Amino acid sequence: MTRLYNFSAGPATLPEPVLRQAQAELLDWNGVGASIVEISHRSAEFIAVAAEAEADLRRLVGIPDDYAVLFLSGGATTQQALLALNFAAPGQVVDYVVTGHWGKTAIKQVKPYVSVNIAADGEPGGFRDIPPRDSWKLSPDAAYVHITANETIHGVEFRDAPEVGEVPLFADFSSSIASEPIDVSKYGLIYAGAQKNLGPVGVAVVVVRRDLLQRQGQPRADIFDYRSHVARDSMLNTPPTWNWYLAGLVFKWMLAEGGVAEFARRNAEKARIVYAAIDGSGSFYRNHVLPEARSRMNIPFFLPDETLDARFVAESKAAGLLALKGHKAVGGIRASLYNAMPVAGAQALADFMADFIRRNG
Ligand SMILES: *Cc1c(COP(=O)(O)O)cnc(C)c1O
Repeated sequence: MTRLYNFSAGPATLPEPVLRQAQAELLDWNGVGASIVEISHRSAEFIAVAAEAEADLRRLVGIPDDYAVLFLSGGATTQQALLALNFAAPGQVVDYVVTGHWGKTAIKQVKPYVSVNIAADGEPGGFRDIPPRDSWKLSPDAAYVHITANETIHGVEFRDAPEVGEVPLFADFSSSIASEPIDVSKYGLIYAGAQKNLGPVGVAVVVVRRDLLQRQGQPRADIFDYRSHVARDSMLNTPPTWNWYLAGLVFKWMLAEGGVAEFARRNAEKARIVYAAIDGSGSFYRNHVLPEARSRMNIPFFLPDETLDARFVAESKAAGLLALKGHKAVGGIRASLYNAMPVAGAQALADFMADFIRRNG
């Protein structure tokens, strides 16, 4: 068996100890005589697994008690649509700050329900930075302000929660949740698909300040109502039990490794290694994002000539580095450096990059 360093943007690499534990427990979980995915979500056993995962995530991220935590199917994109349905009145204005592809997706999902004000847009500048806060055109009566904490495709990341006054700040943390300490109290709502930094695809985490659940929102089916999911501990219908369980194993692994502070240290180190390989290459490799907005989690970069891309991807794979092809929206190469990627993986990539220049520079 050969496991390569996997730089996939998502679904993404998972910690090997977690995969081994899941493998060992797959046929008979904890002596119940069946797999965890073969028992009822209403069983005492699964409810305990689910509650422990929530408690561990709360500890890991530092989620205060006045925030509810949901584990939902539908991925991050479904939550993007539910934001408008749950928190904005029909036609009410909502503010979006667009710093890459996923901010645009978020807008597309709410357009049928609300009036979208693009408060700031990085696209005219080629998504190279975060538009300066003092240039944002926020609406005083907006239902919320939406940002994408880390843009997975364009590699643009907020360093801190921006100050937006009384209007609650909603943030898509799909590709950077639990990658460094954050102050949850600065946000009204945080959501993340699990398949980047938390576990397998098929479950999304929503962290929402409880008072916001009083909002009327829009006419919607019960299944689209966050209040109903909160009231039933995310078990309004059958939840994605396997995904929830596996994410729970990832949380325990992270806590055992030293928690978010330790992953922040490793993630900074990995990003430093890869950006140094780019910036020190005499412009053989290029990353277009301004240093103050560069993502620690996803690093897109370009070769001198795009006809070299396929060779880079094939040769890197032969060298043990998987899934470095860039997203089709931007092309080039992309290295995703989520929590489960060891520092040695980033170093192996940097070594390969230097070697590739020697052969092709
Ligand atoms: C991957 C990703 C999404 C989409 O997630 P799905 O689970 O596929 O819906 C949304 N936002 C960001 C920042 C992402 O990285």
